[in-house]
Amino acid sequence: MNYQSTRSNYTADSLNAVLQGPAPDGGLFIDPCMESRPFDWQACLRLDTIDMAKTILKALLPDFKDMDSLVEKAYRGRFESDDITPLVKVGPAHILELFRGPTSAFKDVALSMLPQLMTAAMAQSGEKKQVLILTATSGDTGKAALEGFHDVNGIRIMVFYPHNGVSPVQEKQMTSQQGENVCVCAVKGNFDDCQTGVKNAFRELSSWAQDHGYRLSSANSINIGRLAPQTVYYFSAYRDLVNSGEISLGDKVDFCVPTGNFGDILAGYWAKMMGLPVGKLICASNKNRILTDFFTTGVYDARREFFKTSSPSMDILVSSNLERLLFLAMDKDTAKVSRCMDELKTKGFYKVEPEVLARLQKDFTADCCTEEESAKAIADVWKSYSYLMDPHTSVAWHCAMRNKGSNPVVVLSTASPYKFPRSVLSALGEETSDNGFELMDRLHELTGIPVPENLAGLKEKKTRFNEVIENNAIVDYVKEALWK
Ligand SMILES: *Cc1c(COP(=O)(O)O)cnc(C)c1O
Repeated sequence: MNYQSTRSNYTADSLNAVLQGPAPDGGLFIDPCMESRPFDWQACLRLDTIDMAKTILKALLPDFKDMDSLVEKAYRGRFESDDITPLVKVGPAHILELFRGPTSAFKDVALSMLPQLMTAAMAQSGEKKQVLILTATSGDTGKAALEGFHDVNGIRIMVFYPHNGVSPVQEKQMTSQQGENVCVCAVKGNFDDCQTGVKNAFRELSSWAQDHGYRLSSANSINIGRLAPQTVYYFSAYRDLVNSGEISLGDKVDFCVPTGNFGDILAGYWAKMMGLPVGKLICASNKNRILTDFFTTGVYDARREFFKTSSPSMDILVSSNLERLLFLAMDKDTAKVSRCMDELKTKGFYKVEPEVLARLQKDFTADCCTEEESAKAIADVWKSYSYLMDPHTSVAWHCAMRNKGSNPVVVLSTASPYKFPRSVLSALGEETSDNGFELMDRLHELTGIPVPENLAGLKEKKTRFNEVIENNAIVDYVKEALWK
């Protein structure tokens, strides 16, 4: 039983933690002894990325019987190369490209692995029910989850996205999804309405689903099955720096992470706890700078204006995975963590003690970036180094440059620029339009950078799903869709 809830002494083994998603008390699963578990990180650095993933996932999720074959099925031949996440030297930094997967989003790294983990956990624990995954998405998670879960035995997936709230490219990616076990539906309203609708469906349908042979689950990043695979690329980046002679084994490396729900950067902290010589973890935010304020003042205050920016996957005011970091920084005091989470819910803010803040500041630096600074970073890096960044990566680049110390810095790149052609073209000073596919072509003509295959073929794909529903109709939609 190496996982426990952040809010009580409820425990689960790694199989059940993956199946459950959040803990029943509303907390998140975490391994409270991660730091003291023996792990030979130096031996791990001698492996290629796929073998590295096997070793790391066996350590983090020890109850899975055949991790080697699960990792093979998830990754071999499914990314642009079996490096999975290449590291590229760009000017004074290194960019870790996490977007070389089947949907050109960093979410692919975790969502390629999660279906393997879920089906294995179902088989090993004797789960007879089918799993029904309900997901609300602001764009990227939906497609990566569809791609990961389509035609997986024993699992069905339904994705809900805001009508007129995702980019044309993202919408076509989802509505053209193949697979017999998938459903995609637009919801009138914004992303928060979708998310509320899906949360209500979870509450209202969970016993109905049980009676009909289904178990509800989520593909959200609060699942440890999504977090664990993300620790791997911190190791692979470090290995690549050693192998190219940029650093010697044992040197510290800083990582700058464009942050939304705090999953990606938390995985970096896990890598550090497993022994990897990580220096600072730089938490990069856009104009929604709630995390920057928190790491500076110790007050997490969600009572503020919400901004829609050109890095939509980072437009978030409640970073769920921060709860796991709090648990560690608060000496695993579940009562304290629960109190903070309650206060956030009831009052809209909480404050941590000065000792806790000091502990956080030892490992984390936080900074933020305006829309103008983000656009300027895209243009500058293109002009100086002929490297094209998407508007999430550019937020991190900006923060990395401003906080660079003496350690080498790795900037995590979370999306292909071709997923956001409008913002990228506009950053480069070009005219734009509403036609995402035309803009992709224009960006290609301008830069000569190849369009990822999955995006290039999208225009010709047939739309399979075109339903638009009211946000209070999600429950009925789910019930009906299950019997089609
Ligand atoms: C999800 C996402 C992020 C944020 O990652 P978190 O793990 O939620 O912090 C950043 N960039 C892109 C493109 C994303 O899709």
